[in-house]
Amino acid sequence: MFSDVAAGDLLQQVRAHDFGADPDLEADVNRIDAVVAMDRLIRSAQAEQVAQIAHLHRARALAMHIWHGDASLSVIGEVSMARNISPSAAGTQLGLALALDHLPAVMQLFSTGAISELSARAVVNESSSLGIDDYIVLDAGIAPQLPGLTHIKTGQATARAVIRIDAEAARVRALANRADNRVTMFPDTDGVAILQVRGKAEQIVAAYNVLDAWAHGLHGVGDERNIGQIMTETLIERVTGIVHADAVGVEIELVMDAETLLATDGEGNGDGDNAVELTGYGPISPDIADELIARAPDLFIRRLLVDPVDGTLVARDPHRRRFDGPLGKHVRARDRRCRQPGCDAKIRDADHIHEFADGGPTIKENAQGLCRRSHAIKGQPGWTVRSHGKASVWTTPTGHTYISHPPPILPQHQPPHHLQ
Ligand SMILES: [Zn+2]
Repeated sequence: MFSDVAAGDLLQQVRAHDFGADPDLEADVNRIDAVVAMDRLIRSAQAEQVAQIAHLHRARALAMHIWHGDASLSVIGEVSMARNISPSAAGTQLGLALALDHLPAVMQLFSTGAISELSARAVVNESSSLGIDDYIVLDAGIAPQLPGLTHIKTGQATARAVIRIDAEAARVRALANRADNRVTMFPDTDGVAILQVRGKAEQIVAAYNVLDAWAHGLHGVGDERNIGQIMTETLIERVTGIVHADAVGVEIELVMDAETLLATDGEGNGDGDNAVELTGYGPISPDIADELIARAPDLFIRRLLVDPVDGTLVARDPHRRRFDGPLGKHVRARDRRCRQPGCDAKIRDADHIHEFADGGPTIKENAQGLCRRSHAIKGQPGWTVRSHGKASVWTTPTGHTYISHPPPILPQHQPPHHLQ
């Protein structure tokens, strides 16, 4: 059932089908058919989205003969804001779009729903070392093998094909890949964060084995912490050079509105309802904050006074002229994350919304925290960003407009995200 229906008609037909009227066993079979049919619909919609992005990039690249900017960055900015996704996710999608332009048979499988977006990505990721001419050979060779493969097997099949086509390019790519090292940090829930390290496999395995052996050794002689706790604390002690992981210095921010401030004894020790933020991480529960405060040898507490109406930051430190001083810290404390609509990356720059060079003042109303990529997008030709009260308004080269509010630091305040 539904397998002969064109993708464009699927949603309507599945919704119109009266599953309740199917005979008992047949209804379940038909529901599975509907699940499969929806996969086909989703995939062909994803392929269409990617095709539209490729077209947009082509048009933007032509415009750049006049504008002298970076077409890719410009398209990434448009897609990021329109889809409310990070520039990095938009960049991955653009990369897929541009590569599939050179892989028409693979693209055909994707747009008919025969392979998933994950599989299409696997082909693109594994073939990035190939030249344009080699893509033609890969496309013809790999496409017939793909239907029915998982995305992992698709990646492996592509890797084998790429080595057959150009072993030297595959070797060069492997070298570049092994040199692509990074350490990233993600906040998790309940006062937990994740540290992720990408490096050469043998080094990562060696580091893991040392931690694992050390933890099992200590555990074997009576250390009461579990293996995961010993490994984590040992890693933190060796990286920071401190003797006990619990002894790291912390900076926390106590968030309060004027009402809460008046109800406290002036030291922030009120009724215990204040939101507490661990600097560089985000909100933590008051109990965890108490535990941190009790243990930390170096503790910085900073009070943030927020607007009782919309919950945005009113005061943190006395003003100064330069963004890298207290004013920069205010902007970081107020914005928390990159202010580009759709982006949640860490703030790298305190940006003058109205450029300093064009007479924009160095005051908090003209400042927003941005990540590097969003800052670069803002500087592309055809983009305008202006202040609107506490918000900034982003207009893209296609004329789409997005509004970015500073986030409420107290959770009850939820500003609207889109202007239109
Ligand atoms: Zn950003």
